[in-house]
Amino acid sequence: MSSIEQNIEQISSQMRMAQQKCGRPMGSVQLLAVSKTKPTQAILEAAVAGQVAFGENYVQEGVDKVAYFSNRHPDLALEWHFIGPIQSNKTRLVAESFAWVHTIDRAKIAQRLNDQRPKDLPPLQVLIQVNTSSEDSKSGACEEQEIFQLAELISSLPNLTLRGLMSIPANVASYDLQLAAFTHLAELKEALAKRFPNLPIDTLSMGMSGDMEAAIEAGSTMVRIGTAIFGARDYKSKPQTK
Ligand SMILES: *Cc1c(COP(=O)(O)O)cnc(C)c1O
Repeated sequence: MSSIEQNIEQISSQMRMAQQKCGRPMGSVQLLAVSKTKPTQAILEAAVAGQVAFGENYVQEGVDKVAYFSNRHPDLALEWHFIGPIQSNKTRLVAESFAWVHTIDRAKIAQRLNDQRPKDLPPLQVLIQVNTSSEDSKSGACEEQEIFQLAELISSLPNLTLRGLMSIPANVASYDLQLAAFTHLAELKEALAKRFPNLPIDTLSMGMSGDMEAAIEAGSTMVRIGTAIFGARDYKSKPQTK
């Protein structure tokens, strides 16, 4: 067994334990393997171990990997998620290569992704990225309103399908603080689903290597794990962005 395969086994078992501990159904949380800065060989090892969904942060690096696997290993049928910040001059590449985008934070990006999504591909599955760092109730209300406005726009765009919310909360060590931030996000997702009953709002992308358990207890449906699968990243030897 390769070490990547062992790591995936271990993460999957931690995910099962976390689901069991809080009484959530087995299989209700999906593992997204975050492969940014990692070579195609590492991704291939994870794919051979059964991993299907991969997350990338940097547009050009992600696009190159998507092309590599669709040319060399089409049989693996990998599912690619874009999870990095999007500049508007990069939306075309994202719209052409990825199946999911987790980081929609403004109308302009949603509109461009819709307009640039190739007609022969299924709609892009998208999440609205929520900024949970401002915790006072005033900015919370404003935040919710902003999310609803963006959701309203996305629901009118035929080439995008809104699936839920994503967040990267402040990095805190306390389990209770992690849980509070994630619970806030879960409540926002419930409010969104209630407000847009015709949209398939079923996804909450939250939880990373350091806070996965709290995210699962709060209701995460997709944890994004990099380091615990592939090891530490070496930013010096890899192009971060282009
Ligand atoms: C890098 C990254 C991850 C993975 O982080 P790890 O700490 O390596 O597990 C998850 N989500 C996003 C948005 C990231 O950029």
